[in-house]
Amino acid sequence: SEAPTAGPSSEWLDEVARRFADYRSRLNDLDQRSGDGDMGTNMADGTRRAAARGGDGLAQELRSLADAYLDEVGGSSGPLFGLVLAELARAAEDEASAERLAHGLRAGLEALQRVGGAQPGDRTMIDALAPAAARDALDAEAVRSAVEGARATSQLRARRGRASYLADRVLGFPDPGAVAAALLLQAIAERLDP
Ligand code: ADP
Ligand code: MG
Ligand code: MG
Repeated sequence: SEAPTAGPSSEWLDEVARRFADYRSRLNDLDQRSGDGDMGTNMADGTRRAAARGGDGLAQELRSLADAYLDEVGGSSGPLFGLVLAELARAAEDEASAERLAHGLRAGLEALQRVGGAQPGDRTMIDALAPAAARDALDAEAVRSAVEGARATSQLRARRGRASYLADRVLGFPDPGAVAAALLLQAIAERLDP
């Protein structure tokens, strides 16, 4: 595939990449207990590659994240997060506001559910994204909803992805994709309202 053209470097993307580098082993550990143990590596790679692409302003930064996830991140989470990020980027290209991004999040969630076939309660990233998408702005309140939704996946058995083969063995700790989704939304909300 073509080498991505590097835009101007972005302090925010650099910070997001640093954060996911810090979370790599925690997310890998969670995924080890419910899948194949690569979730943290996937997120760290995706955000590092997005930071390498750079971007000037939130719309370009989200576009870099979306493109990096869609083109360069494997696993289930790469293309699925890529879909959501692409809708967030599209919304930010219209207007980089918390209200517009909440609209983009709803569009991304619809795309994710259409492609991945999962529903709320299936113990996936949807359980963090859907409560945030139900709010009218992608703000600190929406982030709290996402974090709460991610935490609540500890009580859910998986109906999608690798974790679905493990039945009760996944109870007591959260879904790694939901934790990662909440972290991503937190970073975006902070970018909108530092
Ligand atoms: P893989 O299982 O291919 O290694 P990752 O480790 O990259 O995938 O991502 C796992 C995460 O992807 C899960 O924790 C879950 O949140 C999410 N996931 C898996 N399948 C689906 C799906 N069909 N719809 C939405 N999210 C999903
Ligand atoms: Mg995995
Ligand atoms: Mg994998």
